[in-house]
Amino acid sequence: MRLDHAPICRHCDAYQCKRCVWMNQKLTLDLNTPSHQQCVVAHVERNASRHLQKLLNEKDIRLSNNQEIKEINYLDPFNNYKQWK
Ligand code: SF4
Repeated sequence: MRLDHAPICRHCDAYQCKRCVWMNQKLTLDLNTPSHQQCVVAHVERNASRHLQKLLNEKDIRLSNNQEIKEINYLDPFNNYKQWK
């Protein structure tokens, strides 16, 4: 109950993710393990943020923390597990 993130989250940069423990339990039978659905939602939001960042950069509008959001080819980090270090 005190684990603040699942081990898979160490390989993820969808920082806005809101893991719902009820949904975790319902879909994975574990309170701390996020469901595929939650990761997909978080990554769709992440990609939308990346698109917005690109549009702002094209207009030379920079946010204070303008760390580049890198392009990725997956919506759930578990689908990318072969590249984990
Ligand atoms: S999107 Fe998935 S892997 Fe990433 S932090 Fe959220 S629950 Fe963890």
